[in-house]
Amino acid sequence: MFEAKTINEFAGSDVAAGAPLFGVGSVAQPETGPLISLSHIHKVYRMGDVDIHALHGISLEIHRGEFVAIMGSSGSGKSTTMNIVGCLDKPTRGHYFLEDQDVSTLSKDELADIRNRKIGFVFQGFNLLSRTSALENVELPMLYLGVKTAERLRRAKEALELVGLGDRLDNMPNQLSGGQQQRVAIARALVNQPTIILADEPTGNLDSRTSVEVMDVFQYLNREHGITIALVTHEPDIAEYTKRVVVFKDGRIKRDQQVASPRSAREELDKLPPPGADAFDDEDEDE
Ligand code: ADP
Ligand code: MG
Repeated sequence: MFEAKTINEFAGSDVAAGAPLFGVGSVAQPETGPLISLSHIHKVYRMGDVDIHALHGISLEIHRGEFVAIMGSSGSGKSTTMNIVGCLDKPTRGHYFLEDQDVSTLSKDELADIRNRKIGFVFQGFNLLSRTSALENVELPMLYLGVKTAERLRRAKEALELVGLGDRLDNMPNQLSGGQQQRVAIARALVNQPTIILADEPTGNLDSRTSVEVMDVFQYLNREHGITIALVTHEPDIAEYTKRVVVFKDGRIKRDQQVASPRSAREELDKLPPPGADAFDDEDEDE
């Protein structure tokens, strides 16, 4: 019988049309090599006549299902590393294997293509389009891959439901609290079913309760859906919600340790009093 083409064949998206974004079974992937393998990576920025040696031979592996915090003082090389892992920049020397493909030698266009398919980004400042609804913001990465309208809509809704915003599809960013905006950004990072989510200071603009709420979303996605996450943070207590902490110093990895018993954002939220009603939060109708 003639089989309907999946969206992969039409548009190069890695998600099959109609398939749940992160359905049962997405956790139980066969164990292969590391998703991310950085091997002796150097990065030298040239500023006029001056060379800035930002990374001095970093080697780092991240496996499927990990939840890693990247820490270290300002200027230690965290963002440089994240930019390389996210295919936004290339190492000066060394090799980067993303799911066994050596991406350190690809052209800019090839890198952009890999980035659109395989990397989900979350930023400190949310980076949502302001006059655009939550749903449309989340649809955006699929537009770049040419995913068809109905499929875009279905996946965007599913991703927003996954982060607890199924009832906010039509809200504009300025009708959402900071934590809700960051959850829209997380949904946007999820929709192309990336290999890894990279978050650079995702709680940097949020108050402490909202930060725990965002960490709860990350922990849920990692625990229930096996999503691999690497997150840069300055805050040691935020790193305690992850499963592994990698500390950078002067362009080198100074420490790399599993977190013995990660904090549970869910348990901590359950113990906190409910949040005070704010102008944009009409979820607490029973107060
Ligand atoms: P972190 O994110 O840990 O604060 P970065 O990776 O941004 O550190 O920076 C590492 C070093 O590289 C710093 O000395 C910084 O000044 C330098 N650097 C980062 N980006 C650039 C750039 N685009 N051009 C020149 N130097 C840079
Ligand atoms: Mg930085």
